[in-house]
Amino acid sequence: MKTKKFLLPESEIPTDFFNIQAIMPNKPVPILNPGTREPMKAEDLYPIFCEECARQEMDTVHEYIPIPEEVREKYAFYRCTPLVRAYGLEKALDTPAHIYFKNESVSPAGSHKLNSAIAQAYYCKQQGITNITTETGAGQWGGALSYAASMFGLDCAVYMVKVSYEQKPYRRTIMGVFGSTPIASPSMSTRAGKDIITANPTDSGSLGTAISEAIELAINTPNCKYTLGSVLNHVCLHQTVIGQEAKKQMEMAGEEPDIVIACFGGGSNFSGIAFPFMRDKILNGSKTRFIAAEPQSCPKLTRGKFEYDFGDVAGYTPLLGMYTLGHKFHPANIHAGGLRYHGSGTLVAQLMKDGYMEAMDVAQTESFKAGVLFARTEGIIPAPESCHAIAATIREAEKCKVSGEQKTILFNLSGHGFIDMGAYAQYLDGDITDYVPSDAEIQKFIADADALNK
Ligand SMILES: *Cc1c(COP(=O)(O)O)cnc(C)c1O
Repeated sequence: MKTKKFLLPESEIPTDFFNIQAIMPNKPVPILNPGTREPMKAEDLYPIFCEECARQEMDTVHEYIPIPEEVREKYAFYRCTPLVRAYGLEKALDTPAHIYFKNESVSPAGSHKLNSAIAQAYYCKQQGITNITTETGAGQWGGALSYAASMFGLDCAVYMVKVSYEQKPYRRTIMGVFGSTPIASPSMSTRAGKDIITANPTDSGSLGTAISEAIELAINTPNCKYTLGSVLNHVCLHQTVIGQEAKKQMEMAGEEPDIVIACFGGGSNFSGIAFPFMRDKILNGSKTRFIAAEPQSCPKLTRGKFEYDFGDVAGYTPLLGMYTLGHKFHPANIHAGGLRYHGSGTLVAQLMKDGYMEAMDVAQTESFKAGVLFARTEGIIPAPESCHAIAATIREAEKCKVSGEQKTILFNLSGHGFIDMGAYAQYLDGDITDYVPSDAEIQKFIADADALNK
């Protein structure tokens, strides 16, 4: 019998987070205070984030940061996640390529997001914090954080964009079941929310508004901190448990990946699977290719510009160095909600600029076609975000078929799609469309970011 699934014992759950900042040939550009344009220090972030996360954000020195034992214990609820050889998909594609995927969908929250949620909730608890808050668009991060908060006995308030709150009630139920309070944003619980509702009582909300509300709550509530599920360096750091496990599992399988692929929203699951392998490329010149698969409708890596920009639509955050489409760029309403973000994290941006990785854009219809093929051949219905990684994998496997090369491809299955049946129903009904932003549209919003770099 051919081995399909590679699992590590609990004792092999990583003991450290891998901090790629420590070995990057060019360090990530510093976070700037938007008022003074001065680089910010970790202390400057303490009013918003817990102190350990703020320190990790800025840590360019320690290559490995020990994972607290209590966090490892919580990881053991679902880690190590399986590495799976996708024989079914290989056969359907009739490709000589060997395809593997790391299955992060087995986490209780259904995606990789729990890896950072647990770490952030733990560090808050350690600091004596009692309440945490965040925003959520589609609900995956909100669900993961709610579960992590309940693990550590923290109160969790999630500002959920009003339109999703109303259109996707099951997602708020997930948060409610895990014990948190989802609040439709804009809400009357913050100044920012009240101002928006007063100006427009029917405002349906946006991620930008939800971020402002969550940050305002964190700043004004004693013992309350804000958390984020993607983009930031410390979030990417926590996700490196994925790639560290995958490295050992690939060794068990007796192979080394020629290509590592992940879908790309703000960069956390990509960083998680890629960075531990990229270490060999930076330090030993390995030839592995790293591909970030982003939506064609929100192409920050393939068509954006590397410069400073705000992390949110309203411009409340510090200035971050990123590949950006401009913080006011409004991505088309695709089903892969987790990929609808205008920029990339700072670490990935620098690594992209320095040629350690590449990006590919994928049309929405192509992503669902790939996801359905994967479901039929491997038995897992992937999250619409993850479908982008599968589409990129299929493209590479098809190239192998043409060239006859037997490459080894590893991709990250960032989550399952069980809460996205509405999207799959539309696909099956032929109602999924593609959207390609024009150059003029992209230029218009990048011009706003250009103005911040003068
Ligand atoms: C949030 C999310 C993403 C995108 O976020 P990254 O930080 O880029 O990883 C991808 N897949 C799933 C399942 C998600 O929930």
